[in-house]
Formats: sequence, C-alpha cells, structure tokens
Amino acid sequence: MTDLRRLLPAEMDELVTGAGFPRYRSDQLLHALWKEGKTSLSDIRVLPAALREHLAAQGYTIGATTETLRSASDDGETAKVLLKMADGTLIESVMMQYPEEGHHPRSTGCVSTQAGCAMGCVFCATGQMGFKRNLRAEEIVAQIMHFANLLRERGQHVTNVVFMGMGEPLANYAETIRAVRLLVDPRAFGLAQRSITISTVGVIRGIQRLAEEGLQVGLAISLHSPDDDLRRRLVPTAGPGSVGRIMEAAADYFHRTGRRVTFEYALLEGVNDSVETARELAALVAKTGAHVNLIPVNPTAGGFRRPARARTLAFERVLRENGVNCTVRVEKGSEIAAACGQLRTEAARAGALQATAQAAHRSTAAR
Ligand code: SAH
Ligand code: SF4
Repeated sequence: MTDLRRLLPAEMDELVTGAGFPRYRSDQLLHALWKEGKTSLSDIRVLPAALREHLAAQGYTIGATTETLRSASDDGETAKVLLKMADGTLIESVMMQYPEEGHHPRSTGCVSTQAGCAMGCVFCATGQMGFKRNLRAEEIVAQIMHFANLLRERGQHVTNVVFMGMGEPLANYAETIRAVRLLVDPRAFGLAQRSITISTVGVIRGIQRLAEEGLQVGLAISLHSPDDDLRRRLVPTAGPGSVGRIMEAAADYFHRTGRRVTFEYALLEGVNDSVETARELAALVAKTGAHVNLIPVNPTAGGFRRPARARTLAFERVLRENGVNCTVRVEKGSEIAAACGQLRTEAARAGALQATAQAAHRSTAAR
C-alpha cells in the first residue's frame, strides 16, 4: 500500500505516464488530492476509471488518518486534534488562528514529526513519554490536509506551518524534508517556503544538511541556556559543547541560506530566568542578529514553573537593552494542553480531553 499523498509531483508524473496515461492526468490527480482534499480514489471522477483501477490494483490509496478527538480553546482560536494513523498510532496536531483585520485569519498548523521523542528534554511532555516511532511524510502532511479540509468548509485555508508538535524533525530527516517539499510544491499543497518553520532541539548534522537543501524555510533552534552545563541538564541528550556548536551551525545556516535563525528559550522559574543569565544569553546571541523567542514554560509532569510576569519582562528587557531582538511567545491553547510541550497521547490524557471535546469522533479522512 502506498499513499498517493507521499508522491512528489515529479514522481506522480512518472507513475501516471508510466502507466500509459497523458501527463495532464497527473495534474488532475494532484489537484484533486491537494487542492480539493479528496480522500478516496473513487471520488476523483475526473480521472478515467481505467487509471483509478490501475492505481488501486497497484496498491495506491489516499490517506488513512482518522480524527478521534478534537478540543477547542475557550476563545475558539486553537484546536487540538488527536489523529489515529493507519496502524493505530495516535498523534496530536494543533491549529492556531490569529485574527487579522480585514483579512482571513492567519491559520498556523503545528505538526508532529514523530510519535513521542527520544530527546528527553526534562520540561517537555513529549520527551517524558519516550520515543514510539518516526512518522512518514504522508502522515506529516495528512495533519495539514486535515486542517485544510476543516478550514475549507469556512472558506479559509492554512497559511503557515510550524514543525513544533511532537518529536524532533531533524531526527526524522528524510521524511520531514519530503513533507516540506510536498507542502511547498505549487503542484502539491503550494505554501510559500517562508511560511514554514522547522524547530529543532539542535541536531547539528541535520541543520547542516538543511542548509544545503536549497530551501527557504525558517529555522528555530531550541537553545534554553547560554551555559553548556545547564543546557545539558535541560536537554540530557545534548553532547558536551552543544551551545558553541549550535552557534556555529546557526551562523553557517545564515551564511548559506540568507535566513537568520530564531532561538527558542523556554523560561523556567529559578532555573534559567535570572537577569545574569539574560546578560550571558545576550552576549552570546547579540552579534548574530538572531531573534530570541522566550516561551514561559507550560506546566507538564516535570514540575517546572513559569516565572512571574515581571521576571519574564525583566529578562526580556535585559536582552533588548543589549541589542537582542526578542519576543515573549503569546500562549495559545494552554487550557486544552495544546500549548508547547504539552502534547502527549496517553490514554489518561485522552480521557481528560474527552470532557472538553467539542467535536469528537469525526472522521474526515477515513476510507
Ligand atoms: N523537538 C523540537 C520541536 C518540537 S518542541 C524542538 O525541541 O525544538 C517545540 C518547542 O516547544 C521547543 O522550543 C520546545 O523547547 C518547546 N517546549 C517543550 N516543552 C515545553 C513546555 N513545557 N513549555 C514551553 N515550551 C516547551
Ligand atoms: Fe523532543 Fe522537542 Fe520535546 Fe525536546 S522539546 S523532548 S526535542 S519534542
């Protein structure tokens, strides 16, 4: 069985013409898959039955992702879905909407690249659940197609994609890049490259490879500390010297792509949130021109707390005064555990979610 949504347009052309059909049939198939969100071959009436039957006989299908649960935040601007993959693996994806005056809202899909994560960051709910398996490219894009289909009903569309859900994208490199290429290809999903951001915990070899892909996607690196020893305590899988190696890799990424990276910094009360630490961080990043995104930590089982608002603002002020471009992330969806680091798919969590689910048991892509 192969999901047709795994195929890049050039591969689709080859499949269709190789079966003796003209190339425009491939265009029609791509359009039905990506622009119309068709989830069953038999629904693509524009194609000749012979082609549909040929593809089905060769084991091609379209998606097999079922929504098992959905919850929405009180303001209705964040929706979290629990999606079931064909093999029963559960993953979470989030969509955040930001109202824009006079326009359709900005709608950002936050996708998972792995079920679980092996990196073990001590404040992250996904890290606490351990690693289950890598997701395939079609399972990554299925998350975006799921939201695209929901939005289409309202005359809206997905405008941005962030790889900030469960898992470490660069530890699942090939499938992540294939997903990015499907999302940006004008004959597939067709999103602007600059509206995509990949967030990494700092897999150096992955950052180097990404710099050579010829893509223009944004890169965010989760730094969390300017100090190597502290960083190793927060990100136990980081090797010694990771802070320095991340800074080098970030400079190299900028050099090769012309795109500055963003550093993400989870603020943990009493751990990495002092004014002295802010000064050290500023000394490290100011000269790179990089942006720092401060994320007051969301509560997980790790027992960390976010600093008081005043302390967060003091940290931000020190960075600004020392020439660092920075923002404090506006949290969305923390009441439905959809915010950063809260994604986990344990049965217990699903049980708790049930109570707030507003539109559960909807299957959009089952066939
Ligand atoms: N594995 C990648 C991407 C997924 S995590 C990475 O680590 O970058 C996305 C972001 O959420 C990261 O910056 C991560 O540090 C942050 N995060 C994880 N747990 C969090 C928590 N409990 N509160 C706030 N941010 C968290
Ligand atoms: Fe994995 Fe990112 Fe969570 Fe760390 S923060 S455990 S890398 S998902």
